[in-house]
Amino acid sequence: MGNTVQPMRSSFANADLVVCVLTSLPDFHCLASTILTSKTIYNVFQQHPRSIVRSVAYNLVGAALPQALRLVRCQHAQLYSKPVGELLGDDDIEKNPVLSSEDITRLVVIFNSVQELESLFSWRMKDRRFKTSQLFLAESTRFQKAMYRLCLFSAVYGREAYESGSDTDSEEMESELQEAQTLRKDFFGSFSTPELREIQRVESFLREILARAETVIFPAIPPTTNSLRSCYALYCAPHNVLDVYKEGLDIIDDWMDDTDESFFHDFMIGLTSVLVERKEPSVLPVNQKQPIIDEVIGEHDRCSQCQSDTVQGLDLWGPSNWSYLRGPPPHHSITHLLKGNLCANLADIAHFTTVLRETSSEQLFGGLFDYKTSAYNTWNKEDWLCQQCLEKFMRDHLHIWYLGQKVQGGHAIPDNCWYGYNCRTQTHKRAHAQKLNHWCEPIKGDAPPTQL
Ligand SMILES: [Zn+2]
Ligand SMILES: [Zn+2]
Repeated sequence: MGNTVQPMRSSFANADLVVCVLTSLPDFHCLASTILTSKTIYNVFQQHPRSIVRSVAYNLVGAALPQALRLVRCQHAQLYSKPVGELLGDDDIEKNPVLSSEDITRLVVIFNSVQELESLFSWRMKDRRFKTSQLFLAESTRFQKAMYRLCLFSAVYGREAYESGSDTDSEEMESELQEAQTLRKDFFGSFSTPELREIQRVESFLREILARAETVIFPAIPPTTNSLRSCYALYCAPHNVLDVYKEGLDIIDDWMDDTDESFFHDFMIGLTSVLVERKEPSVLPVNQKQPIIDEVIGEHDRCSQCQSDTVQGLDLWGPSNWSYLRGPPPHHSITHLLKGNLCANLADIAHFTTVLRETSSEQLFGGLFDYKTSAYNTWNKEDWLCQQCLEKFMRDHLHIWYLGQKVQGGHAIPDNCWYGYNCRTQTHKRAHAQKLNHWCEPIKGDAPPTQL
C-alpha cells in the first residue's frame, strides 16, 4: 500500500507522515530548513504547499491568526480611511485561504512584536516573577486578538490615513476630522462590548509603558498618560510602543510629522463613545474583574516592609521586576532621589549619571542592598517592596552606593565636607565640590552658615 513505511529505502517514504511533520512545524524558519533537507521532503511540500503554509501560520500565530491576517492584508491593500464595512474581515482567512509570501513576511514581523508585548503584559499584569509570558492559552488569545485589532485601527485610521494636513485650510481640516471620528467610531461599533474592553485594556497597558518612559520623578507610574508624544505613538503604530519601552520616548520624535494634533489627541475616543452609547461605564471600575487576565499570580501579596493594604500584588517590586520600574535611559529621575544637594554637585554628577547608565537594574538595586545601613537590618534583597518603601530605601542608599562605585573604580576619595550631602557650596563652587567628598552624612548642621 502507498502508506507503507519503507525504512530501508528512505525514512521519509511515507508522504502522509512527512505532511504530518511539516504541518506541525512551529514556524516558517523551521519549515524552510526542513523542506531543504531532502528532495523527497521538498517534493511532498510541493504537493500541498498551501495547506502546509496555513498550518504553520496557525502554529506560529495561534488562534488570533484571523485577526493578524486581517491586519496585514488591510495594510497591504492600503485600505486607509475606509468604512469598516469595506475593510477585509476576520473571515478573510476563509474567503482567501492562500497565504502569499507577502502575507507571511508581514505576519512574522507583527507576530514577533505582539509576542514580545505579550511577555511584557504578562510580567506586568499577571505574574511579576517572570519576563516571559505566563498567560493561559485563552488569556494569550484574548491579548493577541485585542492587540491586532488595535494595530488594525491604527493602520486604517491613524497616521498612514491622514498624512500631513498642511495644505488643507481649517474648514477642510475640520470636516476631515469629523469624518475621521465617525469612521473610527463605526469601527469600534463593529465589536462586542467584551471585545472593546479587551482593546481598552491593551490600550491602557501601552499607555502605562509610555507613561513609564516619560516619568519625571522615579518611580511614580501614573495609570494613564495623555502627553502628545504618547498619543502620537498609538496613532502611528501601537506595536512600536515596544521601541519606546526599550529606548525611551525620544524615538517618537523621529516618527513625528506635521499632522495636526486634533487628529491624534482623541484618537481612541470612538471606543469610549460606543461604550457610553451602550450604557456601559466608559472605563471599568478598578474593583471589577479586569478583562483578558483570568488569574493574577500573587494578586493580594503585601509589601514585605510596610504591609500596606492599599498597594498589592502587581504593584510590588523585587529582583524579577526591578528593571520594569526603572524605565529607559537617561534615568534623570533617579538623580532626583539623591539626598540633599547632591543632584547639583558640580564635581561628580556627570560621572554619577555615566555610572548609572552603565549599571543594569539588577546591579543597581542589588548593589544598593550591598550597602544596606543598620537601620535597614530587616530589609532583604528578595523582599517585595511597594513603591514608597523602595523609594525610601533608594534615597537612603544611593549616595553610599555611588561612593562605593568610586572606590571600586580606583578614584581617590577626599576628606568629607562637614556639611555632607546638604552642602550648598558644592552646587556653585566647583573647586570646593572637587576638594571635598559630599557623598556622606552631614556632621555639622544642615548647611554652611550664610556669613561664611
Ligand atoms: Zn511598603
Ligand atoms: Zn561642602
